[in-house]
Amino acid sequence: MSHVPELAVKNLHVAVEGKEILKGLSLEVRKGEIHALMGPNGSGKSTLANTLMGYPRYEVTSGEILFKGKSVLEMEADERSRAGLFMAFQYPVAIPGVSVANFLRTALNARRAGQEANGTGAMPVGKGIPPKEFRALLREKMALLHMDESVAGRYLNDGFSGGEKKRAEILQMAILKPEIAILDETDSGLDIDALRVVAEGVNALVGPDLGVLIITHYQRILNYVKPHFVHVMVDGQIQISGGPELALKLESLGYDWLREGKEVTTP
Ligand code: ADP
Ligand code: MG
Repeated sequence: MSHVPELAVKNLHVAVEGKEILKGLSLEVRKGEIHALMGPNGSGKSTLANTLMGYPRYEVTSGEILFKGKSVLEMEADERSRAGLFMAFQYPVAIPGVSVANFLRTALNARRAGQEANGTGAMPVGKGIPPKEFRALLREKMALLHMDESVAGRYLNDGFSGGEKKRAEILQMAILKPEIAILDETDSGLDIDALRVVAEGVNALVGPDLGVLIITHYQRILNYVKPHFVHVMVDGQIQISGGPELALKLESLGYDWLREGKEVTTP
């Protein structure tokens, strides 16, 4: 293992409203890897996702989060996002009056300005992407994700179905090209179609330049996306890590065996 992992979480402890939820969690995600983080409800999966994105209510009491080798603990959520850490929202909000295309162009310009600040961008600060170039990019990504072009002109998430919201989210990921994407797909609100949208999107976008952490309570999304690594979280820690076979074992045995026996972790 030569290069620094894009995302490194080290012995992370997080408290919410004074209560410790994450109790020493460690995890590394590199570009090109798909990781699935699973675990029973209440084990702290969403707490990890929200902490990674920098939501202020989640207090890191000890440990470290490194993105491309640098601590993000002092960075605001939008800074992290501009740096290339993407998070899909579990409950995306509607923005009436702002079209999908306008939203994405604004987000992309912010991201590019962030890349420029890091010296990795392709364009000067203050110059937005030319409209023609953006339209071509948008068309390309919408085709890749099998989206109808008319969606670009609709107000973001306004009256969108669950599946359409997911598709808009994946489109955002395709346009912004994060190095690491975190998808919290835990909750049952997601029907099977929306789940497939996410899975197909991840499969279409994953490659050597993208690392993905899929967070899910249910094993079924893993029928469509093949993770390289599976981690199971119990009570604020990763209790066991393995390959795709671990997800199958969870499907047949559930989570109870983990809470009872002390399984030895085999990364
Ligand atoms: P999971 O996503 O694995 O179901 P969560 O991270 O949502 O688990 O929750 C883990 C624990 O943290 C739960 O006991 C939950 O009640 C608590 N928790 C999470 N977020 C908050 C919050 N914003 N305020 C208070 N408690 C919270
Ligand atoms: Mg959750």
